[in-house]
Amino acid sequence: MYLARREFLTRSTLLTAGILFGPARLITAQQTPASAGPIDPTLLEDLIAANRILAQEGIVDAFGHVSVRHNRNPNRFLLSRSLAPALVTAADIIEYDLDSNAVNANGRAQYSERFIHGEIYKARPDVNAVTHCHSASLIPFGVTSVPLRPMYHMAGFIGEGLPIFDIRKTAGMTDMLVSDSQKGRALAQTLGNKTAVLMRGHGVAVVGPALPFAVGRSVYLELNARVQAQTMALGGGQITYLDPEEARKIMESGENRSYERPWELWKKKALGK
Ligand SMILES: [Zn+2]
Repeated sequence: MYLARREFLTRSTLLTAGILFGPARLITAQQTPASAGPIDPTLLEDLIAANRILAQEGIVDAFGHVSVRHNRNPNRFLLSRSLAPALVTAADIIEYDLDSNAVNANGRAQYSERFIHGEIYKARPDVNAVTHCHSASLIPFGVTSVPLRPMYHMAGFIGEGLPIFDIRKTAGMTDMLVSDSQKGRALAQTLGNKTAVLMRGHGVAVVGPALPFAVGRSVYLELNARVQAQTMALGGGQITYLDPEEARKIMESGENRSYERPWELWKKKALGK
């Protein structure tokens, strides 16, 4: 027993150090990519804030996550270890390559759905921040034929509607989680060039060129879903959604001024400063 354990530890140490030769060494090299280096402190603070804001605004509970592309290397992204977003601190952030291999997990538990982030960054060079949440208000629009449509000016990013990812079409019967590269790639393909993708029976992935966009869109997407459900519940009468041309003009005008005003407010509330 003692010997077996010692042998295991020795082998683990060698694997971790990456000094075994042959296939084991190759696997180790793939699993521990090089770091891009120190994270910009402002970006790190914003990533912590983004985690706290999503919890504070009721977009995530214990589940859900948010990532940002590394400031030094577009082939790296930053995401918390497996943890409720409200609890995330700088010490919890793990660096990943775009295959969602951790650079510095150091034994920390990882989100099983980190592939959502890696595969979207791979497919969308314009995207620098990704959120994934299970907002209850969005679920109906992923499981019915009722399309989510932009109700008001804060939801112009919905445009002419959002795609729906049905994991069953790519992977058959699953536990619904995007827990490997293949499923992540299929999700990113369904997202296409849109700002978000609804996930049937699961939630949503939202993207943006920076954290305030991904977080702001996550907040207003959930609000829009609630407003649309309320409007439809009124019954009767015709609903006037934003015209695609109006949505386009909103996007052209800097999409609600880059979320600067709400971001300042949310961040102050979330970080207490
Ligand atoms: Zn999920």
